[in-house]
Amino acid sequence: MSYSTRLGGEWGQSLGAPASDSARYSPHSSVMSRADGQLLEAKNLWRSYHRGSETIHALAGFSLSLAPGEIVSIVGRSGSGKTTMLNQIGCLDRPSRGSLRIADTEVTGLAEQDLVRFRRDHIGFIFQLFYLIPTLTVEENIRLPLIFARKHDEQRVSELIERVGLDKSRRALPKQLDGGDMQRVAIARALVNRPRILLADEPTGRLEKKSRGEVLDIFKELARDGLGIIMATHDPELAQEANRKLELSDGRIVTEKRTKSEARYQKLDARSTEQEKK
Ligand code: ADP
Ligand code: MG
Repeated sequence: MSYSTRLGGEWGQSLGAPASDSARYSPHSSVMSRADGQLLEAKNLWRSYHRGSETIHALAGFSLSLAPGEIVSIVGRSGSGKTTMLNQIGCLDRPSRGSLRIADTEVTGLAEQDLVRFRRDHIGFIFQLFYLIPTLTVEENIRLPLIFARKHDEQRVSELIERVGLDKSRRALPKQLDGGDMQRVAIARALVNRPRILLADEPTGRLEKKSRGEVLDIFKELARDGLGIIMATHDPELAQEANRKLELSDGRIVTEKRTKSEARYQKLDARSTEQEKK
């Protein structure tokens, strides 16, 4: 059974969208084309490192916007700046210059404490190596960000466990899981605080083909309900499944392509608009 068929349809609401919107979230409705609704707007971001007398511009004028429900893939050879870019957008690091607006906040102006809180509330992050805590069970790993946020929401934990298909493993330790299931735990953990943006750094880099497809199914289902996703990847098939594919070289975008899946989404969009008119 594909991941999609196992999912309930209320992600929009659980991600914090108003109920009236989530009612319209089903296949690629007007969410993507909402004029005011950019989740994120990065403008002319630079991140420079100094090594002795040498300066490395890991990001050199990077700009990007992300709408709700959109999946953007970032490709580029090793060292092109993908991780640096995700770290700036994910508020794990600060750009040397440029502007970064997330959910109507200019985050470059936030003090350290506020930035930490902002990241916790707005950004989910997953990585190639999962970074699960080995001594905690699946559900304890997923609950952890709630504890850091001093929140209690067991319903959210259970809902996510079910939605990523880990009901049977909730008390398992990470070492008892395969890579695909570990990444499912990491996805659930990234979403437990209801962020609107998910960032993924080489999310399928350590996975077998079957698990790669399953992670993609999860991403698509989440995007359909309004989550914006940016993923850096070396996996050409995965990159092609995004709505937009950007290629980075020396810290800037050198090509930007709308993918075939984007054409498919647009067709679906047109169809649902037709239906709304009737
Ligand atoms: P990618 O993820 O595409 O492989 P990175 O963002 O990791 O690329 O790296 C981009 C460039 O920035 C590389 O030249 C890398 O060596 C450099 N770089 C990344 N992080 C640092 C750092 N902390 N100090 C110095 N240089 C760095
Ligand atoms: Mg990298």
